[in-house]
Amino acid sequence: MAPTIVIVGYTAYQSILHECRSSLTLADLSAGVSGLTSALLLSKSIKGCDLTIVAKHMPGDYDIEYASPWAGANFEPMSSREGSRWERRTWPELKRLTEEVPEAGIHFQKSRVYRRNKDMEVEGQLGLFALDPWFKDLFDDYRELNKDELLPGTDSGCGFTSVCINTAIYLPWLLGQCRKAGVIFKRGVLGNIREAKTLSHTGRPADIIINTTGLGARKLGGVEDAALAPIRAQIVLVRNELPTMLSVSGTEDEPADLIYTMQRAAGGGTILGGTYDMNNWESAPDPNIALRIMRRVVEARPDIANGKGVAGLDVIRHGVGLRPYRHGGVRIEDEKLDESTWIVHNYGHAGWGYQGSYGCAERVVELVDKIRAQVKSKL
Ligand code: FAD
Repeated sequence: MAPTIVIVGYTAYQSILHECRSSLTLADLSAGVSGLTSALLLSKSIKGCDLTIVAKHMPGDYDIEYASPWAGANFEPMSSREGSRWERRTWPELKRLTEEVPEAGIHFQKSRVYRRNKDMEVEGQLGLFALDPWFKDLFDDYRELNKDELLPGTDSGCGFTSVCINTAIYLPWLLGQCRKAGVIFKRGVLGNIREAKTLSHTGRPADIIINTTGLGARKLGGVEDAALAPIRAQIVLVRNELPTMLSVSGTEDEPADLIYTMQRAAGGGTILGGTYDMNNWESAPDPNIALRIMRRVVEARPDIANGKGVAGLDVIRHGVGLRPYRHGGVRIEDEKLDESTWIVHNYGHAGWGYQGSYGCAERVVELVDKIRAQVKSKL
């Protein structure tokens, strides 16, 4: 018998699919990038399992409880060398999709990362602004920028070719790949993770529940993970084009303010960012923050608005999303719910849910394989 799996939340969906052709019943709780990616990999890995995705929000929705549609989304490594598995393992697949699968809505884009010496005490050791980053070996064309390529007020920088994902295309594409692999999608709001056991479309109890509920895991009964916290991200989406992505290590404005841009593939507009505001749950865009975001971008790159300043920007939408941050890092682990049911958690990806999506979903598959090996006779 193949196992029955239910995925709660879109992100876990890809993991569940992997398990689906082997009499395993999986429930995936979530339709974010983590659930969908998990489900897709599961569907490829496990033949014959029944995979159901149950989620409150699905691709096409825009809601403060659903981070994935708001993301830029690009691949700008944020991890330390030691913690780089998720991003390292994701890059080759995003690169392959960009080269070979145009309908996924991803394109290559030159990235320029600028460092200010005054930010380096905090930013200079780890992540995107590291002075000696682990990812210089990941990108074929990584190089340090020359002094004459720097933005005013910055001291050093690096450049490489990365990708930008149009999430409005990519999330429905992932959903379509899952449907093609036999995954069944259902709307549902769970008060307790235990409810997922009864939500498989087969009518049989789920053997494994994939929990990819993002920030929702903070209040989901049976999980209630107090280590989760929102990092508020306000953005402006404009019709103007800026073919080079840019990120700067700091600004002269408020401590939570950032400066970054990325142009989405296939006419998706350009995202202007942003903020990184820990523990702020506010869902409404703040007009003062929006003005600061736009002003910083036109000052750094006047060409985006043909030199006309903020007035030269053509706004499609103002937006706010909450990055699902987890103190202590992402939670990817298995847990026994009762004698016949297991949970595999995959949540807490903060600002790197896309760029770590395939690496994390791969780990979900490993954990499902481990559970199946332990209870071979049943699954
Ligand atoms: P979510 O997308 O939040 O999905 C959670 C799912 O679980 C939803 O389907 C929800 O309905 C469901 N759910 C939750 N609770 C329940 C419940 N009780 N019952 C049923 N369903 C439930 N990442 C990058 O890699 N690159 C970027 O450039 C980038 N830019 C970003 C820019 C912004 C403005 C923001 C906000 C985020 C950005 N991120 C980026 C981060 C990225 O968006 C997140 O890490 C990622 O989307 C998290 O996905 P997720 O699937 O785990 O959670």
